[in-house]
Amino acid sequence: MITPVLPSYSRAPLSFVKGEGAWMIEADGRRFLDFGAGIAVTALGHAHPALVKALTDQANALWHTSNLYNVPGQQALAEKLVDHTFADTVCFCNSGTEAGELAIKMARKYWHEKGQPERNVILTFEGAFHGRSTGMISAAGGEKLTKGFGPLLPGFRHLPFGDHDALTEAAKAPDIAAIMVEPVQGEGGIRPLSDACLKGMRDLCDETGALLILDEIQCGMGRTGKLFAHEWAGISPDIMMVAKGIGGGFPLGALLATEAAALAMTPGTHGSTYGGNPLGCAVGCAVVDEITRDGFLDDVNRRAGFLRQQLEGLVAGHPDIFTGIRGQGLMLGLMCKVPNLDVVNAGYDALVLTVPGGDNVVRLLPSLTISEDEIMQGISRLDAAATALERRAAAE
Ligand code: PLP
Repeated sequence: MITPVLPSYSRAPLSFVKGEGAWMIEADGRRFLDFGAGIAVTALGHAHPALVKALTDQANALWHTSNLYNVPGQQALAEKLVDHTFADTVCFCNSGTEAGELAIKMARKYWHEKGQPERNVILTFEGAFHGRSTGMISAAGGEKLTKGFGPLLPGFRHLPFGDHDALTEAAKAPDIAAIMVEPVQGEGGIRPLSDACLKGMRDLCDETGALLILDEIQCGMGRTGKLFAHEWAGISPDIMMVAKGIGGGFPLGALLATEAAALAMTPGTHGSTYGGNPLGCAVGCAVVDEITRDGFLDDVNRRAGFLRQQLEGLVAGHPDIFTGIRGQGLMLGLMCKVPNLDVVNAGYDALVLTVPGGDNVVRLLPSLTISEDEIMQGISRLDAAATALERRAAAE
């Protein structure tokens, strides 16, 4: 018999009832070190005082007004994002998927208004993940996402990941509206695009007029050590999808764009009941204030260096379990020799939470505020997990 909750996830038998910084507490009282942060969502850890205050203050004042009126928190958050990024304008939504849907609408409308509606194809990449709506699974195109959900939406062309020659060739087609890409693939298994590749994409877009859409839903909001990952390459997109970390655990997404890219999005072209609601924006303002305060990202980079160094030791100590590390900042992937799910499950036994990713990778996405001591505790738990797997293999 089907369960009351639709069984579309294979869930671990864990029920968390409380979060404190980098820790999650299970219903039975066990304390897990959280190296997953709800898949890169609780960027400031659980129950960060500034976020709790922002949310409760707003909850005591006003929950909802609708976008029929100005929402002061929305304007404040949009101004902060505009101040700190390439963007001239921001549209808020409730999730990453919705930000992606608007990105596609915006890119197509842009060309429609320019009198070239035939330029409506978006180039995307193998291994990508942009969300689970029909539009976003059509955009990503992988069989795991799309099988059985057809007919898919037309207007996407899928290219191999990291093959610049294939991209250059594909971008020459006269029907290309935009290139859409994650600077660091998350679900795909923490696969970073090189700076050269991102620069090459920007150049291609400048040559052809195609818009560059970056999906920074997982890799943005300080995760790689810059506010947004593309900053490492010294380029900027035309449109950018943001979600996850910006709400610190409260459902909030945003689409950032240049004025030129957004020009066709006039009143009546898009909307959302809850997008940019006062609660989400109050939390979003607190998150952005914290991540952009002096020294915050320096600390992230220091912690990231420390975590990476510790992980090198872990990998070297367990050559039958791990083959290497990849990623940037606090978005790291442990490449596995054994099935990655075995490592994640052994981690549960050792009281550390990690996240499986594509390409047999275990994702480590701790809160950006995790301390060195907590990193050490996480490493020793991962070490215990790897040792348990080795013992099990030796016993078989
Ligand atoms: N894009 C990327 C890169 C993601 O990692 C995700 C979620 O994992 C999404 C889009 C979809 O975001 P959401 O689940 O908030 O709709």
